[in-house]
Parts: sequence; structure tokens; C-alpha cells
Amino acid sequence: MTTDLEIARAATLRPITEIAERAGIPLEALEPHGRYKAKIGMDFVRAQEGRPEGALVLVTGISPTAAGEGKTTTTIGLGDALNALGTRTMIALREPSLGPCFGVKGGATGGGRAQVAPMEEINLHFTGDFHAITSANNLLSAMIDNHVYWGNALDLDVRRIAWKRAIDMNDRALRLSAVGLGGVANGFPREDGFDITVASEVMAIFCLSKDLDDLRARLGRIIIGQARDGRAVTAHELKADGAMAALLRDALMPNLVQTLEGSPALVHGGPFANIAHGCNSVIATRLGLRLADVVVTEAGFGADLGAEKFLDIKCRMAGLAPSACVVVATVRALKMHGGVAKAALGTEDVAAVRRGLSNLERHVANMGKFGLPVVVALNRFNSDTDAEIAAVQEAMAALGTRAILCTHWGDGAAGAAELARAVQGLIAGGTARFQPLYPDEMGLADKIATIAREVYHAADIALPPALATRLRKFEEAGFRKAPVCIAKTQYSFSANPALLGAPSGHSLPVRDVRLSAGAGFVVAICGDVMTMPGLPRHPAAEAIGLDAEGRIEALF
Ligand code: ADP
Ligand code: MG
Repeated sequence: MTTDLEIARAATLRPITEIAERAGIPLEALEPHGRYKAKIGMDFVRAQEGRPEGALVLVTGISPTAAGEGKTTTTIGLGDALNALGTRTMIALREPSLGPCFGVKGGATGGGRAQVAPMEEINLHFTGDFHAITSANNLLSAMIDNHVYWGNALDLDVRRIAWKRAIDMNDRALRLSAVGLGGVANGFPREDGFDITVASEVMAIFCLSKDLDDLRARLGRIIIGQARDGRAVTAHELKADGAMAALLRDALMPNLVQTLEGSPALVHGGPFANIAHGCNSVIATRLGLRLADVVVTEAGFGADLGAEKFLDIKCRMAGLAPSACVVVATVRALKMHGGVAKAALGTEDVAAVRRGLSNLERHVANMGKFGLPVVVALNRFNSDTDAEIAAVQEAMAALGTRAILCTHWGDGAAGAAELARAVQGLIAGGTARFQPLYPDEMGLADKIATIAREVYHAADIALPPALATRLRKFEEAGFRKAPVCIAKTQYSFSANPALLGAPSGHSLPVRDVRLSAGAGFVVAICGDVMTMPGLPRHPAAEAIGLDAEGRIEALF
């Protein structure tokens, strides 16, 4: 079988200048990084302000399983198919993190004949954005310890420094660490730790900022910890925001690449979908909308997490209003939601598909609560049988939603033509009436409870009194209007990853609440949430290497 990497390598890419020109980006606006990647200059980005905007299409999915769903692949296939039908379309995706590339999941450039390229470069160093974000994060860390070292004028309580260092790697040994050891010359010893770069607040800020001014203002609002009198201390008080913004200036220019079929794709920013909001930068999405008639974008995880945050955090803050929503499902994943073990997925099991449909049906219904028209993309795997596919299509048709079989993974744009026509129809129909799930004015605890009830079908939330008090303090500190970002398992509507399908009546346990004051949201941690993943027993890194010609091997 041909691997994603082999397909990507066999493709003939066009110079990025050509892709840019066709997308309406003049040569002078490009800052090429090699021949196939370019950053788009901020002057050009600013000059597009006020231009009419195209339609925004969100690609989301059912609750992820170990079987894999293919949201990125479908986002790319749909973008290619829309372009093939003559609709000027741009794709907007997150940048991959090195953690999953070398761990279990692999890269994030799509698959089969629906990929963005150059695959190896996008998945590895790309244009250096993650380096810049990591550096900005760690500059703040260095300035914190330095401030304490030189006399601690802000009276920081070293036991209550919340800001952590960051690195773009899965490295569990760094989760908790001690810094400042080794004597007087090295500063004051304290407990510290690392988050993976994609989990850092700088990444979330980067992706939610409207422009450079907004970026700097948000960086300044980061709360790094508490002073000994309990007062919150910000990055601005440490005078770190200016230098952090300087490190991020070039990174904030959106990155342009192409799909294997020559569609323009903006790949920019990449926050986690648990502790942060899980979608590409506002700047890239906005630029795409001003240049194209349609922007197709992906939100991470299932629609309960990814789409909810895309809509309640990103769209609310940036004033975006999607026109349609595509929910990606696979027969294999539906079978897992219907109770089939991964090893048995190759065997036809229509009854299991029917049982697992409860998961898809709930996600589709939930998107209706945001006022979005929905189409289901059934991403075909070779093992799917006609009877299993028919079971999905019949069940969805009975609920008034089309489930369209897609084969873009094997066939490229042609395999998503019917999906593209359905999406064109939803946009032209103009039925979208986007509204966030809850109003800004609602109290923070009620916001958490509203998401739990409406999206997760929980009976209630379990919010310990101490956390309720902390939420009230956030409100008193001026953050009542902030949206909430729920960090919980992506595998279930509940906080228990083993409860597949569509569980109801559970209680959502809130374990911790944190204020991401720079990003502008309140994080509710519900369950074990990993902000620094580890590598598996046999990480993908063991197989990755170089062949005799120096080409990268085994990246997927
Ligand atoms: P997601 O964005 O939902 O995490 P991706 O689009 O990144 O998923 O796909 C995950 C993996 O599954 C990729 O390696 C991709 O090549 C593979 N994949 C996606 N769709 C198919 C398909 N129809 N058949 C086989 N493999 C697929
Ligand atoms: Mg993806």
C-alpha cells in the first residue's frame, strides 16, 4: 500500500508564488520560505480589512475513537472539491505539533490524496512559528525567575507562580521539575514544570489575536502567578509583553501552502483542543474569508469539544458566523461507539453501526443548537460494507440530515464532489442563524452547566464550593463575560472516556478552574487533562529516519 508520505512525495507541487497569485495574493505580499511555503505580509493582511467576506464552513466530527475519523482529510478533500466545482475556496488548518508526529497519532496534514504539502516540512519545522511561540513562552519564564533573583520588587510568591515553561515535544519527564537549584548564583529554588507548546496560553493568544496590537495587549494580560498578598501579577507588570510580541511578530503572518490538487491552504497556529480552543488562527481564517468565496476549516476532537469551542470561543470573540457545518463520521468509528473492539472492526456488523449512530445523531442535533445547517460526511474506509453505509444514510435521512459517502482519501477532489455540492446548497440556502450556546452575560458556573446539559446531556455539574468561589472571584476581577473552555476527555460526551455512544444523565465533575486572562477564557478542567503528553512504548520516532538519498522516511 502506498503511504501518505509516498503519495505526497510523488506529487508535483507548483511554486507557492503561483498558488498565491491564483488566490489573489500578489508577489509583493509574499515572504517565501523555500519554494513551496510562504508567509503573507501583515501589510497585505491589514489592507484586506473591510473587504466583503466569503462563507465559513466548519468541519467537525463524532467523538474520536482509536479507529480514526479523518476530519483534516475531509477538510482538505472538501476544499479541493469546491475548487474543482469552480467555487473559490481556501482551506484553514492548524499547524502540526512535533509531539504527536513522534508519538502515536502522526502528523496533521491529511491523508491519501487529500493532503496539504510539503508534508514533511509542515509536520516538522514548517516556518518556525512553534519555535517563536515556545521562545516567547520561555522568555516570560526566564523573566519571572530573573525578577525574583534581582530582588522581587513585585513581591511574587514563588510558591504560587502558575506560569510554566514550554517545549514542543511529548516529554513526560518534564511535567514537574525543580528550577533554581545549585546555590545562590542560580536563583531561588522552586517547583516548575513544562507544558507542550500547543497547550501554552501563548499559543491560544496567538490564535485568538486580531492583529499585533491585540496580541501585545493579550500577552500583557497573562497572569503569571500571585504576589504574597494574593494579588494577581501579569506579564505586563514584568514588562515582558513587548519582547514577547517582538518574538512573535513574524510568526503572526499566516502561512500559505497548497493541497496535492493545488488548492490554497492557510496553515497557522495550533492550540490543543482541551486546555485551549483547538483551531487555527483568527488572522488566517479572516484573511481566507476576505480572499475566497468559501473557507473550509477544521475544529479539533469531536463536535462536543472542538466545534463548541470554535463557536463559543473563536467565533464569539472574532465575530465570525459560519454558514454550514460538516460532521465527519466513519463506519468504523460508529461500530466502536456501538461496542465493537478495534480488532473486530474488519467484520461487517450493521447492528453495531446502528447502535453507534446515537453518537453521530447527538452531535448533529447539537450543531442545530448553534443555528447551523449540517451535512454528514461519511468518510469511506476500504473495510466498510454497502449494508453498513446504507444503515447510516437511512438513519440520518429519517432525521432530515444527508449523510454523503466520501472517497476523497482514495480519489481526491472527485471523491468529495457530492459533499461539495451539498455544502454549496447549504450556503446558498442561507438558513444558518449562528448563535453561541450561551450569552456573554451568563455567570461562569452557569456557562459550564449550560454546556454540560445542552451539549453533553449531563444531568448536572459537580462543582466543589472552593471552585465556585474561585469562579466568583474571576467574575469580580472583570472576567464575567469570558467564555469557558472545557477540558475533558475527547472520547465521550461524559468525563469518563469508557462511556462511548451517547451517555445521558451523568454528572460533569469540575476538578479545577483556571483563568487564561490573556486568551480571554476560563478553563474548567473536568477529569485528567494532559498538558504534557508522554511517548508510547514504541513511539513513531523509532521508525522515522532518512533514506539513502536523505529523504525523510516513515513520517505519517
Ligand atoms: P483527524 O483530523 O480526524 O484526526 P485525519 O484526517 O488526520 O483525522 O486522519 C487520520 C489518519 O487516518 C490519517 O493518517 C489518514 O491518512 C487516515 N485516513 C483518513 N481517512 C481515511 C480513509 N478513508 N481510509 C484510510 N485512511 C484514512
Ligand atoms: Mg485533524
